[in-house]
Amino acid sequence: MTSLEPEISRLRQDLGPRLIVLGHHYQADAVARHADFLGDSLELARRLSELRAEHIVFCGVWFMAESAAVLCKPEQKVHIPDPGANCSMADMAPARLLEAVLEVLSAKGRRIIPLAYVNSSAGIKALCGRMGGSVCTSANARTMLAWALEQGDGALFLPDQNLALNTARALNLARDRVRVLDVRGSGRRVDLAGAAKADLLVWPGCCSVHHRFKTRHVLSARAGRPGVRVIVHPECRPEVVEASDAAGSTSQIIDYVKQAEPGSTIVIGTETNMVLRLARGHADKTVLPLAESRCQGMARITEAKLAGLLKDLDRDPGVQIPETIAAPARTALERMLDVCRASAGQRKAGT
Ligand code: SF4
Repeated sequence: MTSLEPEISRLRQDLGPRLIVLGHHYQADAVARHADFLGDSLELARRLSELRAEHIVFCGVWFMAESAAVLCKPEQKVHIPDPGANCSMADMAPARLLEAVLEVLSAKGRRIIPLAYVNSSAGIKALCGRMGGSVCTSANARTMLAWALEQGDGALFLPDQNLALNTARALNLARDRVRVLDVRGSGRRVDLAGAAKADLLVWPGCCSVHHRFKTRHVLSARAGRPGVRVIVHPECRPEVVEASDAAGSTSQIIDYVKQAEPGSTIVIGTETNMVLRLARGHADKTVLPLAESRCQGMARITEAKLAGLLKDLDRDPGVQIPETIAAPARTALERMLDVCRASAGQRKAGT
């Protein structure tokens, strides 16, 4: 396949400072090489406040472009090379279903605080903002879940059950106070008596990339490799996290590899594009994927689609989020920043 690098470089030159391209770490090299900034979803969202460009092209999945559109300045426009680049986990929690389930759970006056992982739609974030809840990332899930549990009679974490269960364990929540919900049938199947006994209610979603890893992958990574370290993303099953040496968000995994001693062997349970890029960037260490696992949504962004978008950028409508969704979604995101700032302040003061 011929490279579109010269064509994309020429289009980028024509657009000059009017354009910024953001890329997620899970993108293939052919796309990632065109990014001005490569990061995880939180790092890229944080970058937005510094950006002056009129057009922000987001090479990631749809919910990331939505978050960027919620957070960018009114004069900026966010574009995605393929609006069909979806996240299978975000798709497991449609906003209307969450609304129905919350209604069922709150029927007897119980106040449930929804806490959504950032890997969710703008509609879900908006609902969390309206219902007194918030959002979290894999790096701050512990702080945010502890906060959510203090706000009402219980918390509902969504959409990722693995991150919820791993975080509950890190917070030492008793297993019998945690319940994974059956959300089928618009919430009609929720076991209300069981849910009433739990402090943490868990949405039954998962990431197709991370849920794929099993304990047997960790065991075979260790076989014949004395001293190997296994690190996985907290979207992996709890038993996989338990069998590993460490668990961390995308940026924590990158730091882990950077800080490892030269000559060490690190096996990583996350998206394969990122692991292979880390391996190439750290030739003094052996970096291996726990198993091949690629994100189909991320793979929908190709160099050809990026070139096609850049050719006609001024005519692309960009990602449109109505203010009725954007405003409460922003509230949920700002609440997260406030809670994390306050928690960091308390840690600094030693309280
Ligand atoms: S890796 Fe998982 S959580 Fe991330 S975009 Fe793909 S399906 Fe969604």
